[in-house]
Amino acid sequence: MMSELALQDLHTSLRGQLFLPDQPGYEENRKVFNALIDRHPAMIVQCAGVADVITAVKFARAHNVEVAVRSTGHNVAGISVCDGGMVIDLSVMKGIHIDPEARTVRVEPGVTWAELNHELQVFGLAATGGYVGTTGVAGLTLGGGLGWMVRKHGCALDNLLSADVVLADGQFLSASETANSDLFWGIRGGGGNFGVVTSFQFQAHSAGTVLAGLALHPLSKAGEAMRFWRDFETTAPEEASNGAIMFTAPPGLPLPEPLHREPIVGIGGVWVGPLDVGERALRPLREFGPPAADTYQRMPYSTAQTMADFLWTRGSYNYWKSNFMKSLSDQAIDTILGFVATVPSPRTVVVLEHDGDSAWSRVADDATAFGHRNWPYNIVVTSAWTDAGESDANIRWTREFWEAMRPFLAEAVYVNYLGDVDEESVRAAYGPKYRRLTALKDKYDPTNFFHMNQNIKPTRAVSDAGAA
Ligand SMILES: Cc1cc2nc3c(=O)[nH]c(=O)nc-3n(C[C@H](O)[C@H](O)[C@H](O)COP(=O)(O)OP(=O)(O)OC[C@H]3O[C@@H](n4cnc5c(N)ncnc54)[C@H](O)[C@@H]3O)c2cc1C
Repeated sequence: MMSELALQDLHTSLRGQLFLPDQPGYEENRKVFNALIDRHPAMIVQCAGVADVITAVKFARAHNVEVAVRSTGHNVAGISVCDGGMVIDLSVMKGIHIDPEARTVRVEPGVTWAELNHELQVFGLAATGGYVGTTGVAGLTLGGGLGWMVRKHGCALDNLLSADVVLADGQFLSASETANSDLFWGIRGGGGNFGVVTSFQFQAHSAGTVLAGLALHPLSKAGEAMRFWRDFETTAPEEASNGAIMFTAPPGLPLPEPLHREPIVGIGGVWVGPLDVGERALRPLREFGPPAADTYQRMPYSTAQTMADFLWTRGSYNYWKSNFMKSLSDQAIDTILGFVATVPSPRTVVVLEHDGDSAWSRVADDATAFGHRNWPYNIVVTSAWTDAGESDANIRWTREFWEAMRPFLAEAVYVNYLGDVDEESVRAAYGPKYRRLTALKDKYDPTNFFHMNQNIKPTRAVSDAGAA
């Protein structure tokens, strides 16, 4: 039991807030994106800045308190909140500083991609982030960062120039290609294993107005469209980062009637480059079928960043499965569409992301801890529902879908989409890089202080377990 005096001391040494159970703000602040995660930390330290992060880390260490680190709480596996320990909450650290000349931006960890790209847009710039605006810059970048400019500029961590990190002993340091470069390698893919990142410096890119949208097909006509898309993608320019999104239209969405009768397959994404070239290049994709609707428009990149946000709402129950695919065969397409036809919840979205040969795949495999750049397609089944009583049916459907997909999956998974984080899946995510990450963990966090994450176990933790 933590003494009241110790907690009082912690409280007075913070610039931010301390939320304890039964106090105002606690309930609201213990929740994360996924309502299926219902944990009760003993304390939530809502940090106002770096000093609070250092204070929280040193306090947890001194009092032997388990720690979870949370930026915006989007991780669906729930690793950013613990039962009974301390949540280091970074969600109100929202500083954004842009250098328009150098086209760089420094961001604090509570910032979302929508906020960042809103600020960059005024300078005609954009940062490579995720496919939606609500997710946090922090967790998404530390695990990889797949989004609407992945084919043109790589994933989010390929654009990371430096980061400030609070280590497990409370030490603060910067990491880049020239300072603590081993740590810089590890945080680009190794998630929150090595410390708390308190600021990220990114390379931004010219974006301005882009061409973005989806060609929408009713499910019953989507098979041919998906095959056409797959073949189109083999020669698609890198300016186009595309995917196929399968979802149910929410009532009231202004779409033609057939798209309200059955699930929708939306094919498309964002073109970042000369717009007239984009209009010509994307025409075949937008005309094939023809689709029941074509939502492509010219828009600011910051608008494109948020165009799919309505599909994933905070507070739904979520259960996800994801994996890179060996290839997108006809059989795989038919299997996916067959399961979409029986989807139990209108909130569920299935996404096929295409990264392919592009700026993303040209980054050397050993340049960062993130890997699997050789697989062109990634599938994400984001099952979501609103009534707790529907959990069993939705989880069952997701698992059956996943069993049927197994023949088409590569031995490669993206850590940030893991719905269940266990040792086997983390090892599968890092593959041969796991060994180098272990050596780094031994150096920067040998006691596994940061273990509520996609955990890389230090050697000591493994041998302790072996001895037990
Ligand atoms: C609706 C939705 C859409 C998504 N879309 C995409 C997408 O388009 N592309 C994509 O690549 N991913 C996507 N994701 C997955 C996303 O990358 C992860 O959920 C990621 O963890 C979100 O970042 P966060 O800051 O909210 O993480 P949190 O949930 O706050 O934290 C998750 C973990 O990340 C680590 N972490 C977070 N912040 C820090 C920090 N400052 N320092 C050290 N460690 C930290 C910790 O280990 C923590 O446990 C999506 C997720 C959701 C729910």
